[in-house]
Amino acid sequence: MPNLNDTHNPSLRSWVDSANLEGNDFPIQNLPFACFRRRDTKETLRGGVAIGDQIVDLGALRDAGNFEGLARTGLEAAAETSLNHFMSLGTAYWSALRASLSAGLAEGSSAMNALKSCLIPQAEAEYGMPCVVGDYTDFYSSVHHATSVGALFRPDNPLLPNYKWVPIGYHGRASSIGVSGQSFPRPRGQLKAPDAAEPSLGLSKRLDYELEMGIFMGSGNALGSPISIDQAEDHVFGLCLFNDWSARDIQAWEYQPLGPFLAKNFASTISPWIISTEALAPFREAFSHPENDPQPLPYLSSKKNSTEGGFDVTLECLLRTEKMRAAGEAATTLSQSSFKHSYWTVAQMVTHHTVNGCNLMPGDLLGTGTQSGPSHEEAGSMLELSRGGKESITLPNGEKRTFLDDGDTVLMKGYCQREGFVRIGFGEAEGTVLAARDS
Ligand code: CA
Repeated sequence: MPNLNDTHNPSLRSWVDSANLEGNDFPIQNLPFACFRRRDTKETLRGGVAIGDQIVDLGALRDAGNFEGLARTGLEAAAETSLNHFMSLGTAYWSALRASLSAGLAEGSSAMNALKSCLIPQAEAEYGMPCVVGDYTDFYSSVHHATSVGALFRPDNPLLPNYKWVPIGYHGRASSIGVSGQSFPRPRGQLKAPDAAEPSLGLSKRLDYELEMGIFMGSGNALGSPISIDQAEDHVFGLCLFNDWSARDIQAWEYQPLGPFLAKNFASTISPWIISTEALAPFREAFSHPENDPQPLPYLSSKKNSTEGGFDVTLECLLRTEKMRAAGEAATTLSQSSFKHSYWTVAQMVTHHTVNGCNLMPGDLLGTGTQSGPSHEEAGSMLELSRGGKESITLPNGEKRTFLDDGDTVLMKGYCQREGFVRIGFGEAEGTVLAARDS
């Protein structure tokens, strides 16, 4: 097990009672970061750390003069209006601040009163983007997703020959990435039915979600200096939930020869909380390619990556339609999967991204690609669940879907659970499709 320390101790409890409740996403072993302010105020955004149903206001904690050394430097950076500066500092600072917060929030801490005055209930908060995302890249790391989607788009040639050699990705667009609570109008685009002679401009009728994880880069690399596989994770700040909304009909017409473009860049939704790689240490997985598959080239391979390169994060996607909302009904689960099925690890994606000398920057976001599991029920998109729109999904209230309707809210959740450790959660990434605006 990599780098376990006092902050992972399963017997650790917090004086914040809600953090000790079973099944809560934010026990003292988690301590994820977000940027927030009090709802409906003009307060400046600042960094916060989740504990139970509360947020430690890092701005208030800084102003009160708490912590010292690396933790103090980290605190001052994390209290800024975005986390980019904190992300750029590197593991020693992230770890020192986590250790100080863990000690201060633990039962019996002498710092209890100082920290208590810095708590704000999550129910009273609104979230901003945790950082300025300068660049966003989306990978395609689930072989199950790549195979089933490939079969729909290219029945005779589902998995292209490079897939098992190269962590496939494309450069996406950062400006339309929003935090949970995002809503956006149904996109328009060029559409061409297979039997139509010509394309026409119209509203997407095959609007979909993609159940992904987001990887936030911490310290970057200089242009021309690749990051090696065993150093890759030192450059990763943490993980979040990521919904890469996709218009399948726009995608089908535009994606060859250069890949996704307008089918993907109209909106993407992240969860507000970033779970640090340190918090995820107890939930690592061995990584390997199946014996008969090509083995990763040496630059994408190491003992460390093989023994603990994976992350066991359970991912869940839920839907709440407008009708369900009006009836006061809860969201219904569409599918569940795990990031442990990924064909490429986080370290491999980072290393591959920089192997040509490309420089990653603090706050850059990498999407993992849709995390579909091996079985049909574990599919991370409606395209797969509805088998390309051929089989409708019946919801508990009798409504049917092959793709998303206006008013549909998609919710993504994630958590890690393992014998001998305290469960930690990712919170939610929620987004809603609105009716298109007049063109
Ligand atoms: Ca995607």
